[in-house]
Amino acid sequence: TAQPPPPHFVLVPLPAHGHLIPMVDLARLLASRGARASLVATPLNATRLRDGGVDDQALLEIVELSYSPADYGLPPDCQNADKITDNAQLLPFFLALRELAAPFDAYVRALAPRPSCIISDWFNSWTAGVASSLAIPRLFFHGPSCFFSLCDLKATTHGLHERIAAADDREQHAVPGMPVSVKVSKGRVPGFFISPGCKELREEAMAAMRASDGVVVNTFLDLEDKFVACYEEALGKPVWTLGPFCLHRRDAEGMASRGGDKPGVSESAITAWLDEQVPDSVVYVSFGSVARKLPKQLFEIGHGLEDSGKPFLWVVKESELASSEAREWVEALEARTAGRGLVVRGWAPQLAVLSHRAVGGFVTHCGWNSMLESIAHGVPVVTWPHFSDQFLNEQLAVDVLGVGLPVGATTPVMILDDDAAVPVLREDIARAVSALMDGGEKAEVRRRKAKEYGAKARRAMEKGGDSYEKLQQLIETFIYGGGNVR
Ligand code: UDP
Repeated sequence: TAQPPPPHFVLVPLPAHGHLIPMVDLARLLASRGARASLVATPLNATRLRDGGVDDQALLEIVELSYSPADYGLPPDCQNADKITDNAQLLPFFLALRELAAPFDAYVRALAPRPSCIISDWFNSWTAGVASSLAIPRLFFHGPSCFFSLCDLKATTHGLHERIAAADDREQHAVPGMPVSVKVSKGRVPGFFISPGCKELREEAMAAMRASDGVVVNTFLDLEDKFVACYEEALGKPVWTLGPFCLHRRDAEGMASRGGDKPGVSESAITAWLDEQVPDSVVYVSFGSVARKLPKQLFEIGHGLEDSGKPFLWVVKESELASSEAREWVEALEARTAGRGLVVRGWAPQLAVLSHRAVGGFVTHCGWNSMLESIAHGVPVVTWPHFSDQFLNEQLAVDVLGVGLPVGATTPVMILDDDAAVPVLREDIARAVSALMDGGEKAEVRRRKAKEYGAKARRAMEKGGDSYEKLQQLIETFIYGGGNVR
């Protein structure tokens, strides 16, 4: 009997590193297991991915689709979230993305045979139209933790967003129906689409989610079991926990393929520096691909790291070093801390760093990828959430998993305005870094728990492990077409 053709998955990430990177990993995971995977990318991201050799596997193809940023008042190269230069561009960016619906429709309609399944980012609700008109199964991919996604769903179901919008800033609101106690306040409310003008986008995304055939989450069952079960029940759809995807990624392909900026220090130089350090002694400091700091906040971080007395590897974005004041200050810090500190300008090979035995702590903005990459490599964290899902990821790391220590950030920030206050001071950083890295009892417990979760993460991704076997089930579900996943 003839073999059925491999199932064909079309993946549609949000153009933002934190969403693109896990989707690329998922596409490659699917391809490595015999499925055909196509990944939709803007021209900018397609070039970045090709430069990084991400399309080198026979079954992974990049589909280039474009929109016109200038029509929405965005910088012409704004084809990925890292090109957003101020907070006011956020809503136009999401509106511009809807322009991808028409070329996406045309691409899908021209495919023969039809794809077996579309996996589309939660934000890309515009993929729902063509999927439903051609009866193609559609899963949505949720970039954040299951804990966050469940909070967001419960908050929506109970009208919490509206109540919080009408309340004052500090008022705490319990999220009903959670398996653990969760409190949120304005600014730390779940979800992105809470600012004025975003309500419609949020409603569209929620409707597209409700009409989908299930959800893929980059997590693993042992990490979030109680939330996975509750989420599945609340959604009434399968929740496919297939991660952590980063354990499938090879370090060497981590950098060029994903970053916009070129690293100021090569991966081999970083590894050579880490090789010289004592195991578990170095604290890695990075705030993801979007958050951007003013010089006055950089100075606080630098002083805090210096005062902590610990070896550190700190990633500073090129865009944060635009002023000569900032550049000179960082150079002076490097001179003062030579041997003990390494400042990486631009894009750092984060996975290579986190998987190095010298790294024993991570000061993170709590982006879900960073958090999961840290946990998967057994590294405890200092949590400094900036925006969106990050405050809830902090609660998960600190209160539920016991792998995190809060720096004490209470104010949301994304791309700081010039007159914005600095929310975290040098003493906060020095205190948290010292407490994370010093070998006290609490620090040991955090480290032990992180290492236990790391071991469980590796088991989940090996043959026979939960995430590995679920991916197999997912592929098999779509082999014979139809793909009835309910
Ligand atoms: N990343 C990296 N090098 C950097 C900055 C970020 O490799 O210098 C990667 C990081 O490993 C993660 C992603 O970019 O996979 C950032 O995603 P996350 O969800 O942590 O944060 P976001 O960028 O969405 O705020």
